[in-house]
Parts: sequence; C-alpha cells; structure tokens
Amino acid sequence: MKNNQQNILIIGAGLCGSLLALRMGQRGYNVNVYEMRADLRKTDISAGRSINLAFSDRGNKGMKLVGLEKKVKELCIPMNGRMLHDKDGKTYLSNYSGREHEFINSISRGGLNALLLDEAEKHPNVKIHFNKKCKSVDFENTTALFKDYESKDEFVEDADCIIATDGAGSALRKSYYLGKKFLFSFSQNFLTHGYKELTILPDENGGYKTYKSALHIWPRGEFMVIALPNLDGSFTVTLFLSYDEGEYNFNNLTTPERVTEFFKKEFPDALELMPNLVDDFFENPTAPLGTVKCSPWHYKGNTLLMGDSAHAIVPFYGQGMNASFEDVVEFDAVLEKHEGDWERIFTEFSKTRKKDTDAIADLAIDNFHEMKDHVANPLFQKKRKIEMALENHFPNTYFSKYSLVTFNEDIGYREAMLQGRAQDKAILNMLFDRDINTPYDESNIDELHQILEKIQNETKAVLEDNKNARLD
Ligand code: FAD
Repeated sequence: MKNNQQNILIIGAGLCGSLLALRMGQRGYNVNVYEMRADLRKTDISAGRSINLAFSDRGNKGMKLVGLEKKVKELCIPMNGRMLHDKDGKTYLSNYSGREHEFINSISRGGLNALLLDEAEKHPNVKIHFNKKCKSVDFENTTALFKDYESKDEFVEDADCIIATDGAGSALRKSYYLGKKFLFSFSQNFLTHGYKELTILPDENGGYKTYKSALHIWPRGEFMVIALPNLDGSFTVTLFLSYDEGEYNFNNLTTPERVTEFFKKEFPDALELMPNLVDDFFENPTAPLGTVKCSPWHYKGNTLLMGDSAHAIVPFYGQGMNASFEDVVEFDAVLEKHEGDWERIFTEFSKTRKKDTDAIADLAIDNFHEMKDHVANPLFQKKRKIEMALENHFPNTYFSKYSLVTFNEDIGYREAMLQGRAQDKAILNMLFDRDINTPYDESNIDELHQILEKIQNETKAVLEDNKNARLD
C-alpha cells in the first residue's frame, strides 16, 4: 500500500533524526518526533559532546536531498588541511587533497541541528515533541513507551512504523537486545582513550588566535590534541588521552598544577593560546569513545535503527554525522523504489548499508592511530607528499584513501576502504623497499607518471593478493 498518510514515529531529534523528519515531511508522511532533551533552539544546553564537527561531501549529499545546501554553507568554515604542531611549536600544513576544490568544513552541531529542526517544522505534517524520553519499544506491536520529563507522566504512542535515531545509547536497540525475540547481534567496543573538550577563545578583537582554515593537530604518539574553528573566532579543542595508561592520563590529571605541567611539556604553543585551560579542564566532562555494531537493524517492517543507534563510530575520520546523513539519502532512495512496503525497504536498506558503515567504523579506528602517531612519521609524510603530487597532476586518475572516503561520495565506504588500504600498503612498501626513489622531481611529469604507474600496478597486486587470501 502506497500511503503517505501513514504515521511515522521518529525517536531522537539529533542530527540524523531531524534530517530524516524533514525528508519524510517533504514526502508527505505524518511525522512525530520525540526527543528527550529540551529544544536546543530555546534552551542553552550543551550538546554534551563535540560542539563542532567536520562536515564533508557525504553529509552534504543529505543537505542537497532536502534543498539545504546553500543555508548549510553559511554555517561552514572550510578547512583545507591538517596543521600539525610539533613540540617546539613548529607547524606544518598538510592539505587534505591535491585538488584545490576538495576540503572539509567545521560546522556547529547546535547550529546545524537547529537549522534542520526549523526546516522540518515548516511542514505542518511534522511535529517535534521535546522533553519526552523513550524508555522502551514494543517492536512486535509497533508502539513506544515514553516518559514526559515535564509532567512526569508515562504514555504509549503507536505508529505505522518507528525509526530510532536516538544515538549510541538507543532505546530501540536495547529493546531488541533485551527482548530476545529474534537473533540480534550486538557489540560495543571502547577505546582505552577518552576525550575532553577545551577552548581557545577569540582574541580581544574577536579574531582567531591561530590559523583559521585548518584542522589543527598536536600528535604525540599515545595521545593528541585537535582544534576546529568556530564562527565566533574561537576554536573547540579536544584532548584525546588514555584513561589510565602513560605518565599523564585522565585518571592522574587531578590538580591544576599537573594539568598545566602536562600542557607545558607536551603542547606549549597550545597552552599559550589557552589561559582558560585549567577552568575548562575541570568544568568539562571526560567522555568515552566507542564503536557500536549490531544486526539486524530492523524488526520486520515495524521498526528500524538509523544513524549512531545502528552504527556509532569513533570520531577520527570525521564521518559519524556524515555517515548518518548518508543513511538518510540511501534510505530515501530505497523508499522511492519500494514505497508502501516497509519490510522490503528496511531489509534492503540495512543489507546494502551495513557493509559500508562497518567499513567506516574500521577506518575510523585506523585513523585514530594515523592522527595521533603516523602523521608525524617521516615515511607517512613522504607518502602524503607523493599522493598530493599525484592528485595535483593527475586529478582525474589518482585518489588517496582520505579522498576516496571523504570526497568521493558516489562510491561506498567499503569500496573506498578496500582500494585506499591497498594503495597505502603499496606506497609504504615501495617507499620502504626504495622502489620509489625520493627525492624525485615534482615538476617532471614523466617521472611522476612512472611513479603513478608503479603504484597502480602494486595496488592491483595487493588487491589480487587480498582477494586470493579472502581478506576483502
Ligand atoms: P545523536 O547526534 O547522538 O542524536 C541522538 C538524539 O536522540 C539526541 O538528540 C538525543 O538527545 C536523543 N535521544 C537519545 N536517547 C533518547 C531517548 N531514549 N528518547 C528520546 N530521545 C533520545 N561526526 C562527523 O561526521 N564529523 C565529526 O567531526 C565528528 N566529530 C565527533 C566528535 C566527537 C567527540 C564525537 C563523540 C562524535 C563526533 N562525530 C562526528 C559523530 C557524530 O556526533 C555522530 O555520528 C552524530 O551525532 C550521529 O547523529 P545521530 O542523530 O544518529 O545521533
């Protein structure tokens, strides 16, 4: 039955839920969204995590789908590359791509979420209910139990289908797990590291205290600090550090003196920009980082998990939100094909999408090591330099792993992972074995072309080996 008058219940009005509500509203469904928090447009609530995010091409596909690309662009600060800070305060800018038009953006979580909520609410068929927490979902009867934080009452809502976009701690996922009504697989893996947000405030004229157009990284092997710019001249800084390992860790940074000592020793140039460090450090929470994988994402045509509730990942590829927005795009395409048959839509969406979200989950873990450690490694830097030159001179032929994942939104994460990992392996092996002679003449196109061919051949061989060993 094709019937847009059907009632869709969405749990969670975060980034994924508000985009999904907007899209389903545009399609004419009756949409009710229940969010446990207060309306972030009216209350000054911290999102509880990452004030700003890296927004890139896959996320932008979602904005194009709902016609919001222009409005979202106004919220964006382009970041062309990583600015690496060594212990002596020396900086080194490493572009994300050799193609000039490829960059990522820093965007405010609250600003973007508010825009999506505003746009969703423009549709009279979309209603968003705040301060209503979902406690559990009866997925066999397609009903959800809520607690109203204002009246303290509990109530049950039913719908033609329920889609949970309620993040990493999803109530629907918990109901699947506890319900034991079908074979539901679930894993949650935490890193030994947690994170804490800090701030570089604007200078006295409201300007940026350090270079605006980059994602700043202070890589220190076992830990790191990163900073992304905000529109008001500040930077949101994130410290990624082990809870209990190493000389300095979250469990033993317990006094202002020790926190200052740690930053003086490891991040002296960052400390200079952060007179507010100690206050931020003790006011802001330390939070864990984990990967959630589960399957299936749906129960028949009744209920579906989407966004972080289905596939929370660690933030090191800057792709969690982008992947969640891409979920909505992929879901919409399947909906277009099979509208009216929820079971078929949910089955096909989960089946095609899961291999890609599993891939970005694994890539994000790889990038944790790359960012805190490898980016400062000379072999890695040589590899990046070669890749930049190849992307610059052969823009239609060569795409690094980072470009495949971040800027090639028409191929899936899994394909990007397989090709990108094989390329990385090929280049690193060849550099190690001196099959690529460095230094080479970057202006000599023939020499670069030979390098490109060698890399392509070696990549093919790696892909072939992986296939034979069934590693792909
Ligand atoms: P969420 O954003 O978590 O939204 C879930 C919503 O559901 C929330 O509003 C919540 O209040 C509500 N909710 C939860 N439980 C209930 C309930 N029981 N009942 C009702 N409502 C409920 N991604 C990027 O793409 N780029 C980045 O640079 C990036 N950086 C990150 C940095 C950090 C430190 C972290 C932790 C994550 C980062 N991410 C990044 C990932 C990104 O934040 C998530 O992937 C994204 O927020 C997922 O959106 P979502 O809507 O699925 O979940």
